[in-house]
Order: sequence, then C-alpha cells, then structure tokens
Amino acid sequence: MAQPPSAPGGLPGVGDVARAAGALAKRLPAQLAPLASLAYNYGWSWALGGDEVFADVDPDRWRVCGHNPVRLLVEADDEALTRAAANEGLIRRAQEVTDRVLHPPAREAELPAGVDERHPVVFVCAEYGIHESLPLYSGGLGVLAGDIVKTASDRRLPMVAVGLLYRYGYLHQRLDVGGWQHEYWTYLDPLRRPLVRLTSGGRPLTVRVQVWGRDVFLYVWRADIGGVPLYLLDSDHPDNDAVGKWITARLYDGSRDVRLAQYVVLGQGTIRMLEAMRVEPGVVHLNEGHAALAVLEMARQAVDAGAGFDQAVARARQGVVFTTHTPLAAGNEAYPGHEVMAAVPDLATRFGVNQERILGLGRTWSEDHAEPVGLTTLSLRLSRHANGVAARHGEVARAMWHPLFPGRSVDQVPISHVTNGVHVPTWLGPLMRELLDRHLGMGWIERSADPDVWAAVDAIPDADLWEARCRQRAALVGYVRGRASGDRLRRGEPLDAVRAAADVFDPFRLTVGFARRLAIYKRLHLLSRDRDRISRLLRDANGMQLVMAGKAHPRDDEAKGAVPGVFELARHGGPQARIVFLENHDLSMGRALASGCDVWVNLPRPPLEASGTSGMKAALNGGLNLSVLDGWWAEGYDGANGWAISGEIDGDHEAQDARHATALLDILEGQVLPLFTDTDSDGIPRRWIAMVRHSLRTLGPFVSSERMVGEYERRAYAKP
Ligand SMILES: *Cc1c(COP(=O)(O)O)cnc(C)c1O
Repeated sequence: MAQPPSAPGGLPGVGDVARAAGALAKRLPAQLAPLASLAYNYGWSWALGGDEVFADVDPDRWRVCGHNPVRLLVEADDEALTRAAANEGLIRRAQEVTDRVLHPPAREAELPAGVDERHPVVFVCAEYGIHESLPLYSGGLGVLAGDIVKTASDRRLPMVAVGLLYRYGYLHQRLDVGGWQHEYWTYLDPLRRPLVRLTSGGRPLTVRVQVWGRDVFLYVWRADIGGVPLYLLDSDHPDNDAVGKWITARLYDGSRDVRLAQYVVLGQGTIRMLEAMRVEPGVVHLNEGHAALAVLEMARQAVDAGAGFDQAVARARQGVVFTTHTPLAAGNEAYPGHEVMAAVPDLATRFGVNQERILGLGRTWSEDHAEPVGLTTLSLRLSRHANGVAARHGEVARAMWHPLFPGRSVDQVPISHVTNGVHVPTWLGPLMRELLDRHLGMGWIERSADPDVWAAVDAIPDADLWEARCRQRAALVGYVRGRASGDRLRRGEPLDAVRAAADVFDPFRLTVGFARRLAIYKRLHLLSRDRDRISRLLRDANGMQLVMAGKAHPRDDEAKGAVPGVFELARHGGPQARIVFLENHDLSMGRALASGCDVWVNLPRPPLEASGTSGMKAALNGGLNLSVLDGWWAEGYDGANGWAISGEIDGDHEAQDARHATALLDILEGQVLPLFTDTDSDGIPRRWIAMVRHSLRTLGPFVSSERMVGEYERRAYAKP
C-alpha cells in the first residue's frame, strides 16, 4: 500500500494544506502571510472579526468573490494588497484571528468512550452547508451537517467529516416573470476555493471503488473546518470515462442511476479512503442513509480479517450510528434489487454469500425479492444506535419503521431522537452578538446549552434589545431592496416597477419571513391562499412586509408551482404590496433573513417536518416563531414564546390547508400586528420586547448546537 499522506501530529493532508497556504503566501506581501493560512481554514467564517479581516483587504473584491478568501487573495490587485500590508490594525487583527482559529486551547471535557484523536468520529453526509463559498448543500440536511462539524470543532471533539465534491455543486435558481423556476449550474473550480487535493508521495492520492462493474477512481480533497478536516471524494479523475466523471458532478443529480452511483462512491469510498489513510474510526455516524453501503464495506474488512459473514456484519454494526431525517416516504430512497446488484455486482461475491442475503438487509421482509432495497432500512439494520431529529419525529419514525422490528411494540422500536440545533456563532447576527456578548459573559457561546447562561437576558434594557432588533431588521431591509431590484432588472421588468419594489420595504415595519427548500409539504402555497385578506395586511398603513425565498429540486414541478402563486399574489396586491420572493436562496441569504425577520413562519404538513432549523436561527436573533406544531416547534413552543398553529394529522389536505391558512392570517392580524405596533411614548413596543426576551430565554439553550452535539456525544458516540 502507498504511504499514507499523513503529516506527523495531524490527520492526512495537513502537509498539503500547509503547502497550498505557503504557495498563496508567496504571492502576498510578507505581512499578509497569516491571511493565507486563515484563507485555508473555514474557522475564519465564525471567528469573531474573521469576516472583517478579509473584507478589509478589498471590500469590492470580497463581494465579487462571493466571500471566498482564496479567490480574494489571488485576485486582489497590488494596490489593495500594498494598502492592506501597510494597515497595522488589520495585520494585528489578522494575526489574532489566525491564532484563535489555528491554535485553539485543548479540550477539557472528557471524550466519549471509544473516541480519541486516533479514533475520531467519522461523520458521513451527502451534503455540507459550511459557507456560501462552498456550495455543496441543498437545504436543511446540509446546513445541519455543517453546524455539527463546526460545533465539533468548537468542542474539540475529534472528528473527520466525509462527503462528495460536486464539481457543479447545487443548482442556481432564476425565476421568470411568471415566477417559474429555471435552473443552471456553474463549475466549482476547486483550485480557486479553500480546498486542497491530497497527495501521497508527491502524487495525487487516488481511492478506487467499483460501480457497475467498472473501476471508478476518486481524488480526495480536504477543506479545513476549524479543527475538523472535511474530506471530499471526487470522481472527476482522468482515468474515469465520461460517465464515471459525471458521478460526482451534481448534488442530488436528476438521474436515479447517477444518485445510486453517488451512494456507492460515498459509502464504499469513505471506508476505502479511511483505509488508505490509516484512519481508524472511533465510530461512524451516517447522517441520513445515503452512505449506508459504508457499513457493508466495514463488514468486508472484517471478512478479510477472517470473520464469517454474520459475525462481520455484527462487528461493523457495533461501530455505526445513524440519524434519519425524513418522515416522507419518497424521501427515503429505495432501489429494486437488480439495480443495486447492477451498481455493485461484487457486493455478495466479496462476502461469499447469496446476494439475496445482502439485499434482504435493506428490505422490511428480507424474503420478499420484489421489495426495493431501502437506504434507510439498510442503515437501521446496520447501526447500533438510530435517532430522529426531534421528539415528535422520533415518535413518527418509530411508527414508520415498526415493521422492521417484529415482536416489539411501537414504543420499543430502537429509534430515539436528538433534536436538531444551530451553530450559534454562524447564525447570530452582529448586533445581537454584540448585545449578548455584553450581557451573557465571557465564553457564553461554549456554555450556550446551559439555561442559566441565558438568565442574564432578563437584565438587558428594553431599549437596547429593541435597538439591536431594529438595526438587524434595517440591515435585512437594505439587503432585500438590493436583491429585489437586481432580480427584477434581470427579469426585464419596467424600471418604475423595479424602483417601487425597492421603495416599499421599510426598516421600521413588522417583517415576516419564510425561506427554505421548496418541497410541497412545506406548504408555501398557504400564504397565497386568501389573496384579498393577505393583500390587505401587505398594504395597510399598519401592516406587515413579507420576504420569501427557496429553491425547488429541478425535477419537482409540483413544488415549483407554488412560486407563480406568490407572484400572482404580488400582482394582485399592486405596486404598494410589501411582498417579495428573492431568487437563489443560499447560506448568506439565510443569515440575512434569520437575523432580520421579526416573525418566522413555518407551515409544514404534519407530521412531515422532521425538525426544521430555520426557525431556530430566527429565535437566536430575537425573532419570534409562528409555526405549525410539528418538528422542533412541537417541543420548543411553551404557549408564550411565539405562536402556534395546530399540528394535527388530517388525511383531508384541502380542509387542513383551509384551516391552517385561516389560522395563520388570524394570528398575524389579531395577535402579531397589534403586539408589534403597540409602542409607548419612547417608540418601544414593550409587550413585544417582553415576548422576545422570553423567547430568547426559553429557546436559546435549546436551539444551540452545543446542546445537540453534547447529546450526540453522550447518547450516540460513546461506546455503550
Ligand atoms: C437553515 C436553512 C434551511 C433549513 O430550513 P428549514 O426551515 O429547517 O427547512 C434551508 N436552507 C438554508 C439555506 C438554510 O440556511
């Protein structure tokens, strides 16, 4: 076997990252050298002051480069670099941030049993939402994966993350004048991103798997996320044919066959890569079932070491934990047995057993050869621990997967839950951050899962809390004006309409947000159901403004169909209606919305929202949730920290939609607006601020990803 590409004292690729940073530093004035190292570690993106040190080098270029620090430093001109090099304050700040990111203090808390530096948690996911400059995510699953990785870094939990490098990332969205989505993809040039290709003995490291009976060669790229390396497998390798190269071209490719090939690459590729790197997992965490084949690859290792099939599977299973994310049947992908066998023909022969024995692991009834092989089924059978992502989702998942556990009652189905959380330093807006830093004390973010830490929220003066909220809302309104105008100009709308659309948004007005992946169960269409009534709220002098965004999967025409309804609503309301649907939702837009909206709306059809996290981001920023009692809100809502729409299950979708749409407008009109507009002589809505304060106190510790990752450490990662 080739020498592992490891540097002493670090995980594989440390030397490759250092070389790339060194090469970048050589192009810069000597004083800026720390910035080159910082550019290759996404820890800057959540370090206090990290954004500013890059922005201050060249603010225009920073924007043009989409906040990609490697591109910024490559493209900034001599004049900007010379100016930055002479800026002593900037150099000092850059050095400080770099020290904090690259040399964090050691972990004091005990590690989960079975996990240490030499046996890290191996976290595997098909998508990662780390930052807008690395577009390898489509929505909540990826953003959650990013937040888990960042939190593991903050906690100095030894972790290695593995995913795929999609050379064309996820889709970009454009909407036409009717609101219909069009999508396109752009090349994600890895050499212009904070990514380095792993080498071994001076040559690119190559991992090999077999798909459809052919060799597929994979490069491995590394992105540093604070202290966690994210390894990305990439089939765009010169030894692959065009089809092989395409496997990792696009996240959630439209072709089922290509997606299955991606799951083979992610599952088998992860384990082969670890083998090549000589990394021994303390535990493997499958975040969603896409990588389920990893466990069979682990079993194959045990067979190679002399174990029998059953023993090998049992042993592999002991090293795996699994998180399921979707209560939607169609979201749990399954493939007919013959398609699986075509994709991985050597699956059974390598074990020396009948192929139906292997395929049976992915079926509810192992003997039923007609039943498709499900990735979730396979993952549930092949993991020592399984969890859903909210308490209600745990219940739903136990009922849903009950048939897999004959002889047990529903309550005894071994699927627990770890409710999702969000990474505080990523999602907290700058003014709320400043305010909370001032009141909650040093190091509060590391302790943000502790309710006592949030007690100090009670001592924040109303006026200060209101001011921070107003300034974050004003920043969002500025952002919305710019984006809404740009979208309309691109669509070729008349200039007076473009100007009017920007002017109607008001920094002092109640701002309501709705943005997430457009899947039909998220029910965007409820907002435009009663056009006359909502139009009044959007036009009244004392009314609200509504900001929406979201991408639909390219093949999901039903979900795409909700946006024309919103455009229709905007037309119906006329030029004075304060409503906008922004194109191309991504992480940076997500941050702007989460920090600026006063009310965050979520309308999933119960019980299909596994957790949801966007409302948690809003809550952290002092936004209030108005949501159906499903997912995390069924746990988070206490009767006074936001508003709830009933979460009942109803087979009559039409009747349920009618009820929920009415409830939404009743609450907005009858409760939300009166509370927001009831200001005292100082212009402060005291009762609103009291509710914001109560929301922060009750939800702060719960929504923090420190709480979530702490629970994963104790309940899932620790060896039983
Ligand atoms: C948080 C986030 C999501 C998840 O939204 P949900 O309401 O939880 O579905 C999706 N997309 C982006 C860009 C996000 O930041």
